[in-house]
Amino acid sequence: MATRPRALSGIQPTAGSFHLGNYLGAIRQYVALQETHDAFYMVVDLHAITIPQEPADLRANTRLAAAQLLAAGLDPQRCTLFIQSHVPEHAQLGWVMNCLTGFGEASRMTQFKDKSAKQGADRATVGLFTYPILQVADILLYQADSVPVGEDQRQHVELTRDLAERFNTRFGSTFTIPKPHIVKEVAKIYDLQDPSIKMSKSASTPKGLVNLLDDPKVTAKKIKSAVTDTGTEIRFDAQGKPGISNLLTIYSTLTGADIADLEQRYEGKGYGALKVDLADAMVDFVTPFRSRTQEYLDDPETLDSILAEGAEKARAVAAETLAQAYDRIGFLPAKH
Ligand code: ATP
Ligand code: MG
Repeated sequence: MATRPRALSGIQPTAGSFHLGNYLGAIRQYVALQETHDAFYMVVDLHAITIPQEPADLRANTRLAAAQLLAAGLDPQRCTLFIQSHVPEHAQLGWVMNCLTGFGEASRMTQFKDKSAKQGADRATVGLFTYPILQVADILLYQADSVPVGEDQRQHVELTRDLAERFNTRFGSTFTIPKPHIVKEVAKIYDLQDPSIKMSKSASTPKGLVNLLDDPKVTAKKIKSAVTDTGTEIRFDAQGKPGISNLLTIYSTLTGADIADLEQRYEGKGYGALKVDLADAMVDFVTPFRSRTQEYLDDPETLDSILAEGAEKARAVAAETLAQAYDRIGFLPAKH
């Protein structure tokens, strides 16, 4: 059997529920790549602590994140699902990558700039500054070819490519150079109340953020009160009509309908009609998603054993890569 290309991605347990941007921009691609790739997906709890987390919440949200990934369609028979902190090699290779990254290079990361601005200059941690470099290690440990992410992560995958090339040039070919897997249409889902910013766990307005685990009634209401644009025409125009274009993207991806067909279907009908139908489509999607998530949460033993098996599979790959990198760097091996 020809070996499949590798895919790797991660999602933070920084909030209880995933949102629609996470699902459309990233998780749907995780599910699809299980069929064609040797896929590794993780809940990145090391990344979550770059901003303050309540210990009990972090623990609960980590399980909840894994349950949602399974509910969304990840199949432990077809991919490796694990928790980042269960594989210590991430932090270990992360340190190595820190030592290869220029300070100025790290300072150019726009996610850090955005997030540290939100935290306030005095409260932003060094961990927040270097988290893109930990992400580099996350990807390189698995020799990933493909990294399914939203548009906001493109710069971090670029950094990963640069550092992999730098290491390979300096110490000999060690790491696969990865490519971002970004699906243009859904790479950036926008806040429903402010279509100039991305929907985000940490930065969205509560009314603009569609959480997958919200009561479906709340979700329907948020969709119906989404900000739309002046005029009445339903037409995809990301610049001129960002609100309605965002809704069209969401509707099209959830139902499989072409945007052009939707424009035709709603010709002369006004924004309200589209919102009502999209709200229904959302309710149809989140209702079974919520109950599947709950089923995994109700059986923590099964969930934990899926994660334990995932960590074991992940560690086998990560440990081999780390050992090779350590050797190339010139670390003296420990005598056993
Ligand atoms: P935070 O605000 O804490 O960074 P987040 O909402 O950005 O949270 P992450 O866990 O950082 O969520 O991201 C998980 C994945 O979801 C990443 O691949 C990211 O690119 C993708 N993603 C996040 N928000 C969106 C969005 N609005 N549209 C498309 N993809 C998104
Ligand atoms: Mg993010």
